[in-house]
Amino acid sequence: MEIKKKDIRALTKEQLRDFFESQGDKAFRGNQVYEWLWRKGAHSFEDMTNVSLETREMLEANFAINHIKVDQMQRSSDGTIKNAVRLHDGLIVESVLIPAKNRTTACVSSQVGCSLDCRFCATSRLKRMRNLNPDEIYDQVVAIDRESKLYHNRPLSNIVFMGMGEPLMNYNNVLKAIDKITSPEGLGMSPKRIVVSTSGVPKMIKKMADDEVKFKLAVSLHSAIDEIRTSIMPFNETFPLKDLREALVYWYAKTKNRITYEYVVWDGINDTKKDVEALIEFCKFAPSKVNIIEYNPIDDGEFQQANSKALDMYVSMLEANRITVTVRRSRGKDIDAACGQLANKS
Ligand code: SF4
Repeated sequence: MEIKKKDIRALTKEQLRDFFESQGDKAFRGNQVYEWLWRKGAHSFEDMTNVSLETREMLEANFAINHIKVDQMQRSSDGTIKNAVRLHDGLIVESVLIPAKNRTTACVSSQVGCSLDCRFCATSRLKRMRNLNPDEIYDQVVAIDRESKLYHNRPLSNIVFMGMGEPLMNYNNVLKAIDKITSPEGLGMSPKRIVVSTSGVPKMIKKMADDEVKFKLAVSLHSAIDEIRTSIMPFNETFPLKDLREALVYWYAKTKNRITYEYVVWDGINDTKKDVEALIEFCKFAPSKVNIIEYNPIDDGEFQQANSKALDMYVSMLEANRITVTVRRSRGKDIDAACGQLANKS
């Protein structure tokens, strides 16, 4: 029977040091190997040129390095890149590079499929198959950083956890991945350039506040009226707006970090004055801003972007109430890489 080797990147630096000591070697060797695995991104033990052949063979016999593989890369006419990423067990997730004038953003996945059931989202059709490991999240970022340098002549500058999956339903692994991304031994990125976007899991938002995380928080709100939100995001029945609001107030009190509300305006769903008034009230509970995102219909076309008159109404009413609002054009539509479109179709 074939014995499945343990993924060496599941070990912390301390565990690697302990492993080498248990083998009668110096703990320092653990630091060396750790650096190869993370900062230098080694894909095989052979790459570790300053480690003796004997040690490399011993590592090879005991461990595997389960790197992701970019199976397919699609480039949009607007410069957006979508990667279909194959995981070590053959499952596939998608991640997206979004170039803008002064920045390049990676939109990464945190789960294969999703635990939640937002009716407007293509990923929800896949159901959750499993959570991603920290290294699988980290590798998506590394792959996009490489593509950013290659195709846009600059390194990756920002990360949003807005790809497939609900990041707060895979909290520990997302946090571990962010630790690696921000650590000098990993990519050394500032946590201020990372946004974790959630559909709103109150208990986990409070936990993040208690854990004093340094990254930013975005919430896919889409409606500040329970009845409407439940009709488009059924889990809102379990986590109603009252609980979400309380968690966000708690978040702000602890972190002093402003919240971003992601918001799509759909035709006949949330495009009335009453909807905007409810959003304005919701925004008053904690300092926040609103990102209105352009929507891209998925297969059945049940959800359609509202007309520009409705969007203008949102913008003018929010601004009249001194709430910062931006309207974000969707990117990568021609390759199904836009918000809500990730569904492993390629
Ligand atoms: S919008 Fe996000 S949380 Fe909702 S189903 Fe899609 S991937 Fe999951």
